[in-house]
Amino acid sequence: MENIYTVCGMCTVRCPAMAGVENGWIRFLQGNPHVPAMAGALCPRGSAGAALTADGERPQTPLIREGARGEGRWRSVTWDEALDYVCDRLKTVIDAHGARSVALSDRGGPFRDMHRAFLRGLGSPNYCNHDSSCARNVHHANLSLTGLGRKGVVYDYRHARHVVLQLRNIFESIDVQEVNNLTAAIEKGCRLSVIDIRANVSATKAHDFFLVRPGTDYAFNLAVIHVLIKERLYDAAYVDRYIKGMGKLEMFIEPYTPEWAEAETGIEADRLRRFVHRLAEAAPAVIWHPGWMAARYRNSFYVCRSIYIINALLGAIGTQGGLPLTNKPADVDRKGLKNFQDLFPAPKEKRADGVGWQFPHLEKGPGLCHLLYKAMETDEPYPVKAYIAYRHDPLMGFPEPDRLKRIFDRLDLLVAITFSWSDTAWYADVVLPLSTYLERESIIACKNTLRPYFFVRRRAVDPCFDTRAEWQIIGGLARRLGLEQLDFDTIEKIWRFQLEGTEVKPEDFAATGMVHLADAPLYRDRNNLSFKTPSGKIEIISEQLEKNGIASLLPYEPIPRPPQGMFRLTFGRCALHTQGHTVNNPLLFEQMPENALWINTASAEALGIADGDRVEVSQNGYAETITAKVTDVIHPEAVFVVHGFGHTLPVESRARGRGLADNKFMKGGLDLWDPAGGAIAYQEHFVAVRKAYQQGTRP
Ligand code: SF4
Repeated sequence: MENIYTVCGMCTVRCPAMAGVENGWIRFLQGNPHVPAMAGALCPRGSAGAALTADGERPQTPLIREGARGEGRWRSVTWDEALDYVCDRLKTVIDAHGARSVALSDRGGPFRDMHRAFLRGLGSPNYCNHDSSCARNVHHANLSLTGLGRKGVVYDYRHARHVVLQLRNIFESIDVQEVNNLTAAIEKGCRLSVIDIRANVSATKAHDFFLVRPGTDYAFNLAVIHVLIKERLYDAAYVDRYIKGMGKLEMFIEPYTPEWAEAETGIEADRLRRFVHRLAEAAPAVIWHPGWMAARYRNSFYVCRSIYIINALLGAIGTQGGLPLTNKPADVDRKGLKNFQDLFPAPKEKRADGVGWQFPHLEKGPGLCHLLYKAMETDEPYPVKAYIAYRHDPLMGFPEPDRLKRIFDRLDLLVAITFSWSDTAWYADVVLPLSTYLERESIIACKNTLRPYFFVRRRAVDPCFDTRAEWQIIGGLARRLGLEQLDFDTIEKIWRFQLEGTEVKPEDFAATGMVHLADAPLYRDRNNLSFKTPSGKIEIISEQLEKNGIASLLPYEPIPRPPQGMFRLTFGRCALHTQGHTVNNPLLFEQMPENALWINTASAEALGIADGDRVEVSQNGYAETITAKVTDVIHPEAVFVVHGFGHTLPVESRARGRGLADNKFMKGGLDLWDPAGGAIAYQEHFVAVRKAYQQGTRP
């Protein structure tokens, strides 16, 4: 059996992996054994990668739409015909509306450089990733306090003494290295506290679990800051040295006592106090995770800011065992990869989503997808007429899919580059089928961390169908559009281009699939930290926010509670599925074929609902049925589903008709977002629930 180093592509974490290949097929998949924190493991989804590759229910050839959008009548075509078609349409759009009328979105990650370069080469500023439906609030929160983005710090679980998970469910929304590192820390005595509206799997492993009222995280955190300051539990030396604006914070926090918070959150004041004392005892080796999916409420940006402030008060930012600063290649005196994007000048046009000019406090990079869609809907500030969804399924991921379809109907061209079917691919004009991660190689990527490294994904097996790698698809488009700089005939040439000047050669990846850029993890000197703010300190009052009319310290306002007889609709992840794109995977479907509606026992009893009953969930005249999971461990004001179910496509025989799609119950949700942090407020929607009776059996 030959071992081939790859990078898992079953979710956006991209764990280093190794495929054992025999007779042209995958015999064994495991985490890269040379990465200690992988411990040779993959999560369930990662382990199902071969089932995805073997699955005939994915796009197998390039397809051009024949019928109406979404009708499902396709013409199977050659790659030349598909790429010619896309490029002809792109040229027509660009001639009529300019290059800025072309947009591309993806799901982020380390393999974006080439397709971003393609868009930049065309002259369009309208690159977006999915992040306004995920972690944009987290990113902007850290940016507003430290000048570092979300990835400017790492989470040093191995050395942590107390970890708090609030907007992060590590044991279900999995990053294998994080899971292993946190598990090892817990085994060595690290305390785990979880704050959530339901007992998720992370909560089952916690020493302390706080079941808070939905939408009150900000109140909880303000009370934590109150206790830290009032009881002088913070790291005074660190605060003196690194925090600017402490006086303003002290005044602001005055009214937010634990007793005040108890009335909001339902968490006893004394319990919260004990928790804060435990945090202070463990400081500075504390990680209060600032969150992954923090697109929840209109105050979630401030929840994220409060988390970073708590970490700072505990002296954890920039500290071993807390949130040390991330190292890029230059931080360890090495040269980084050569970028494809640098081959082209940055577009001068303003972004269609307003980021960087209408919203100058928000970072331009990946923009805000929901505002890009708004531009498509209104032609303001200018028309966006061609859209490439690269491994991105906004029709499953954003609220109001029917409205989004009407918006997409205004496009002259919608292209999906994808390895699996999705609602967006089904609605596209052209589907360009991507090989699965086991069938394709990718550009070399760089992981910025304590010990930064380059890593490579090699092709483990030949494509089962007429699919291509990204570099081939982008190269084919680029060649036709006069962007020869992106047209390579082998992946080796691409790798050599990227590695120019780095003293690393493609052969250097042969032994382990990666090349470390430093001999050991590098922790910055905690006594000599510098942050990327005007003062070089952690700034409680952000000049950038204030000058754009946004409060740095937002007084608490309760989030609206569910109307009588309704529940707040919440959603999240489980270990078996990655949003929508694994639900039709044969192995994963077998393990979990549909989602269920978590509902509190008392709430269910009042509605005559028993565990396992079919229930009807409705909002604004739209209804679906689903199985109820009746449990004590969810707050009575909320119901919960795992996201990604409710598929309707005829090409997905397994997933079709199973479970409920939460994003269909979010009327007005595309407009419900927070201009301070930029993200959608997904959890401000309410549904009615009642027992579903078969026809003729209603009592
Ligand atoms: S977390 Fe799981 S699915 Fe995601 S990259 Fe890692 S192994 Fe793959």
